[in-house]
Amino acid sequence: MIGSIPEEKIQLMRDGVDIVGLISRYVSLKRTGSNHVGLCPFHAEKTPSFSVSAGRQIFKCFGCGLGGDAFEFLMRMEGLSFVEAATRIAGEMGIDLEPRQLSSAQAQQREEKERLQKIAALASEFYHTQLLQAAEAEACRQYLNRRGYGRTSATEYQLGYAPRQGSALAEHLRQQGANLEDARRLGLIRARDRGEGDYDLFRGRLIFPIHDLSGRVVAFGGRILDAGQPKYINSPQSDLYHKGAVLFGLYGARQAIRQAEAAILVEGYFDQLALARAGFTHAVATCGTALTSEHVQLIKRYTRRVLLLFDSDQAGRKATFKSMELLLPVGIEAAVVGLDAGEDPDSFLHTQGPEAFAARLAAARPVVEVYMDECLTECAPGSAALAQATRRILEVLKLVADPLEADLYVQELAQKTGLKPEMLRQQLGQVQAPAAGGSSARSAQAAPRGVSAPAVARVNNQDPQGAPVLPVAKRQASSLTPAEAKLIRLLIFEEEVRQQVAHQGVENFFVDAALGQMASEILYQLQDVVAGQEVATLQRFTELYARLPQPLDYDPAEYADAGEQMLEPYRKKAADRRRRAMLKKQS
Ligand SMILES: [Zn+2]
Repeated sequence: MIGSIPEEKIQLMRDGVDIVGLISRYVSLKRTGSNHVGLCPFHAEKTPSFSVSAGRQIFKCFGCGLGGDAFEFLMRMEGLSFVEAATRIAGEMGIDLEPRQLSSAQAQQREEKERLQKIAALASEFYHTQLLQAAEAEACRQYLNRRGYGRTSATEYQLGYAPRQGSALAEHLRQQGANLEDARRLGLIRARDRGEGDYDLFRGRLIFPIHDLSGRVVAFGGRILDAGQPKYINSPQSDLYHKGAVLFGLYGARQAIRQAEAAILVEGYFDQLALARAGFTHAVATCGTALTSEHVQLIKRYTRRVLLLFDSDQAGRKATFKSMELLLPVGIEAAVVGLDAGEDPDSFLHTQGPEAFAARLAAARPVVEVYMDECLTECAPGSAALAQATRRILEVLKLVADPLEADLYVQELAQKTGLKPEMLRQQLGQVQAPAAGGSSARSAQAAPRGVSAPAVARVNNQDPQGAPVLPVAKRQASSLTPAEAKLIRLLIFEEEVRQQVAHQGVENFFVDAALGQMASEILYQLQDVVAGQEVATLQRFTELYARLPQPLDYDPAEYADAGEQMLEPYRKKAADRRRRAMLKKQS
């Protein structure tokens, strides 16, 4: 079994799925003999070398070499994990994938989430209908028209309008028999302090629905139509919506991001829409927040290149460099798209058109270069300001994941400052030293999805029960017990082990919080990695890699026959250690 899905169901799907139908949604296929062929969605080509065999239930590209079954196709195409892809296929085939024993707490959680999703969908429909039909929404429709959005685009993007009257949504939900408590939990309505009933969060606003990766509405952004303040408000955090982990437009942009091999990152809803409408469909926006490491992990599922397109003012530059600090450590290449002062994507496209914009994209400059120039402007040669600026730049260079790339920047910095490269390299080594401590800003930035910087610091110093543990950096191979070292190796090389450990919970295998943390990071970093690329992938995460047992010798034969049972001994050992630690505490 993989994850929580029984092997026989996987086989059932693998054999039974309509692979031609599935792939046809993404690729236009033509029948040739027993196969179907089309243009490969994974590499750019003009003559079809992508072939699908319904008989063998596989696809294969003779141009780029990619191939596999329906799961593999969905995983690559949509950036899904295996379990996510299987869930989707199961849904279409009407196969019930319910885990055999869902705990009652899990079942309740799932049920609650489904209820919240229904409310969000109801609200989205309500806002959209208002925009299309309500007399009151005329000003909103005109506003959209002025910005170039007619009825078609309003429908395409499911834009909405929230009536001015204070409780229209609350009323509507009540009439629909919806659970108002759930709507309150989503922050869409709030109980009045005085008097009866609820009032709406969004009033007199243009509404942008925010989707999760399955295309379900999870939250809304609302723009005011007159000169009032605040200009934008957003749904608060909820069980459905974590704003640091959702990118506006990503649901629709995923495929384009893969094909363009880059994502354009913009600030606002309208920036994203303007780009999409002009054909730049690989753009996404943060939802009224700064970029987070969770966003970065999300983007990394689809591409290794981000084009930063923020406003060309002070705040925009600040956001650009903040994003840089998150993108560089995970090995994402970041470049800055320059627009003229006072321009945003919307206005630029309006005045200069898509071709001029494409030229700007092509001319995007590596963010590190832009940062260097920014720091070094107005620094006189040999001045104290220059020394200070150089230090700031070195701080950023130490974030660059690839040492070769970092060294190229050192050479460039040497040229720009007139300082000797050897000296800069030495300095770089010095600023790099504290990063190995594990609690530096860098390790916080490299934190995996779902782990906030404070959580990393906490794990590095203490386990959740408050018992002090060694800092992660001090735990080199020698301090790992043989069983843990072996399990770490297994985690790196065996996809199935990763899935099982993820499914059963890291905490059941690693007693020590810091090691558990390391294991979680490995699980995360290697989530969708290609077999044979595990070590190379991990090496991109230098800091994590340095903590692993060296060398990573591994004998596949050792585990080949153990099957499902292979993890049992490890779990037992961890339980033993936990028991011993408890006894020690009590005595
Ligand atoms: Zn191909």
